[in-house]
Amino acid sequence: MSSNTPRTPCGENCGMSRTSPDTREEKKYSNFAIFLILFGISSKPKEVKFFCKKCGRQFDQLSPDEIENYV
Ligand SMILES: [Zn+2]
Repeated sequence: MSSNTPRTPCGENCGMSRTSPDTREEKKYSNFAIFLILFGISSKPKEVKFFCKKCGRQFDQLSPDEIENYV
């Protein structure tokens, strides 16, 4: 689970990784998922993006496969 970490300019400059404390995770849900969440039913996000708190840039994003396994 560690060999395919993508290299990004920000990741190298700022030393960011998905699990870094300076990482901001932004989740996007579909309208249907928000509807379910309102009723207390947990739902998978449509998109999960990772932003660097140091430079504000997005440096990573979960692939559809990873979102399937996202908890
Ligand atoms: Zn950065």
